Amino acid sequence: MFEKVLIANRGEIALRIQRACREMGIKTVAVHSEADAEAKYVKLADESVCIGPAPSEQSYLNIPAIISAAEVTDAEAIHPGYGFLSENSDFAERVEKSGFVFIGPRPETIRLMGDKVNAKAAMKKAGVPCVPGSEGGLPEAPEQIRKIAQSIGYPVIIKAAAGGGGRGMRVVHTDAALLNAVTMTRTEAQGAFGNPSVYMEKYLENPRHIEIQVLADEHRNAIYMGDRDCSMQRRYQKIIEEAPAPNLSSRLRDKIGERCAEACRKIGYRGAGTFEFLFDGGQFYFIEMNTRLQVEHTITEMVTGIDIVQEQIRIAAGIRLRIRQKDVVIRGHAIECRINAEDPYTFTPSPGRITSYHSPGGPGIRVDSHVYHNYFVPPYYDSLIGKVIAYGDTRQQAIARMRIALSEMVVEGIKTNIPLHQELMHDAAFLRGVTSIHYLEQKLIGYNKEPLKLRL
Ligand code: ADP
Repeated sequence: MFEKVLIANRGEIALRIQRACREMGIKTVAVHSEADAEAKYVKLADESVCIGPAPSEQSYLNIPAIISAAEVTDAEAIHPGYGFLSENSDFAERVEKSGFVFIGPRPETIRLMGDKVNAKAAMKKAGVPCVPGSEGGLPEAPEQIRKIAQSIGYPVIIKAAAGGGGRGMRVVHTDAALLNAVTMTRTEAQGAFGNPSVYMEKYLENPRHIEIQVLADEHRNAIYMGDRDCSMQRRYQKIIEEAPAPNLSSRLRDKIGERCAEACRKIGYRGAGTFEFLFDGGQFYFIEMNTRLQVEHTITEMVTGIDIVQEQIRIAAGIRLRIRQKDVVIRGHAIECRINAEDPYTFTPSPGRITSYHSPGGPGIRVDSHVYHNYFVPPYYDSLIGKVIAYGDTRQQAIARMRIALSEMVVEGIKTNIPLHQELMHDAAFLRGVTSIHYLEQKLIGYNKEPLKLRL
């Protein structure tokens, strides 16, 4: 096992990884920007290294600075967390070439999955069901593009092969709008991702977002750890996740889970990963694979009792998976609310000093957060300040506990989306477990017409 791990991230996930390391007796190195120098989790690490000024490009995305920090501290492995450099294959390669272990998949795998056209082709080959769409990237010839759209049937969605974070996508409803949409998405993709390649998929009108968590070791052992429903989204960003997905039969869950584990064996996947699917009309359609730890890994940990971060570290150290598929037992239900520093209804970021903070507790409540009384939420990064996770024997109990937790939680001095979560924990469609990926946005449009009254 490693003696020392460098955590190339910040905020709640840096603390989460630090906790896993400490439990395993591994020393930690926290790297931080100037803006995060005073954070408590930085002080809690065995060592810390400032890697640059506040803007991410100069610190958390600064590859040479992170590698030098690993060199000067003699760290053996680097955990990238999520976001920042976690899905950057060049970073993974640089880490390994510099003699450190990258806690994640091989650089080639990250590169393969980072190009969604190639990822889809690889998944199709491995037997994972995909959204019907173009075979590979779209050709240049307008007539051919039209033909593809007609054979798929409108509406279609044009997506950037290198897209991510919900950017580089455009829905097209008519033949007349098609070519213009393709050109615009290409231009955008070139600008944002440096790759103009785009592809086309059937646009599913009312799907749910359901994903499968996997773990795979270097020795071609792979397991799936059940599913998560992340349909509650705004602008393609998840805000509530739950495990297992409500109203999904265990037969369907196991069938798709097996396919994912098998795909991992076939492509020689290593580490933790997530297969993201749209679920519509009782069918799963693969959209992408995330080759990293996800924000919502916590709910899978709650229902399986498996520490995903510790497993990632063991796998990176070359240790065989100790968990067999039959050992993965889903027990109870878990829900996660992402607590963001933002206005709950306009979603404008709300950085600043937390003047009063109280964390909820009690049976079944887990809070993953790096913030505290008098913490200053810097304006430079993602607005996530923590995650409240409620576990219960049943979905109903998890919801009841989440309501209590949200009512206990105090975060003053900045705005947070806690009131929105409180509202959603009473939402009739959510309670029935029947929301689609468009549900929240449609509900919010309603709010704009008629100002929200909290029904608590
Ligand atoms: P990103 O990497 O940017 O997250 P994804 O391919 O995962 O891109 O898609 C993000 C979101 O876009 C999905 O969760 C879903 O809400 C929507 N989406 C993507 N593809 C389709 C599709 N074929 N039909 C309907 N919605 C889609």
